[in-house]
Amino acid sequence: KAKQQGRNTYEVYTEDLDRKLSQRVTLRSELQEAIEHGHLNLHYQPLINREGEVDGLEALVRWYHPTKGFISPAKFIPIAEETGQIIPLSRWVMRQACKDAQQLVAQGLLKGRMAVNLSPLQFHRPNFLSTLRNVLNETHLAPEHLELELTEGILMRDADGAIDILHALSGMGVSTAIDDFGTGFSSLSYLRDLPIDKIKIDRSFVQDAVKSDKNAAICQGVITLALELDLRVVAEGIETVEQHDYLMSLGCEVFQGYLFAKPMPLDSLITWLTQKAQMTSNV
Ligand code: C2E
Ligand code: MG
Ligand code: MG
Ligand code: MG
Repeated sequence: KAKQQGRNTYEVYTEDLDRKLSQRVTLRSELQEAIEHGHLNLHYQPLINREGEVDGLEALVRWYHPTKGFISPAKFIPIAEETGQIIPLSRWVMRQACKDAQQLVAQGLLKGRMAVNLSPLQFHRPNFLSTLRNVLNETHLAPEHLELELTEGILMRDADGAIDILHALSGMGVSTAIDDFGTGFSSLSYLRDLPIDKIKIDRSFVQDAVKSDKNAAICQGVITLALELDLRVVAEGIETVEQHDYLMSLGCEVFQGYLFAKPMPLDSLITWLTQKAQMTSNV
């Protein structure tokens, strides 16, 4: 009996694995099509300063599958990273985000920076900097309006290479932020040694800060550290007034989350930014 049960478990297991594997293979070829046919999209989420003004924007890639509907970047970005599809995908994201940012700057709707998420493969390519310079030239976006979001993993992968790239970026006037801060396993020495401008506290700490003393302590610690090191600090994933008030009381400088705005397509963003500008000029 036990033997039979064991065999059944094994079959269920392989079937499950087969299904997952074939799903990934399908997703991979569908992603290829989406990249080639321009079926990817960018949404933009505003970041808000302590005065309630727009501090900047973050570009987030979106994929609406013709039959499967919305597929989260949390699902397809790791696949794209594995297959190398992240390279053409990132190239498109960078160009589109810079183009849209330049349009917003020209319309007087963006004074801060457009933040673009970088993948490790993209960042560590030998031609990363020259590609970036080309995009800035072609889109006429001033480097002072661009920010790059890196993860701790990117800096760990090739720390020496990363230092050179970060210095070059800083020399160009492009700023950098550490995304999802606190979720990686890296040392804090890079905060001292690298020319980084901003830390984004991961939303897992932010969202539970009002419920858990441990998360509150982490938020407080990161904010104190950032302010001492002259880094700007952002709290990700603010969904409630309570979370906002609490992070404000800790001295956090910038806020991002559904409480203020969800990521939205460019046309909705333009409407949102225009209304926001009218509201502030009326008071
Ligand atoms: P991320 O860079 O940390 O982006 C923030 C994520 O938090 C976004 O998820 C955003 O929609 C979500 N978010 C913002 N405010 C709230 C909130 O109040 N509550 C909750 N629950 N979530 C909130 P999204 O768009 O699903 O992206 C997931 C991740 O995928 C990103 O995390 C980023 O790591 C990656 N990603 C997205 N776009 C790109 C891209 O163009 N290139 C690369 N390399 N990665 C990207
Ligand atoms: Mg990000
Ligand atoms: Mg983030
Ligand atoms: Mg995050």
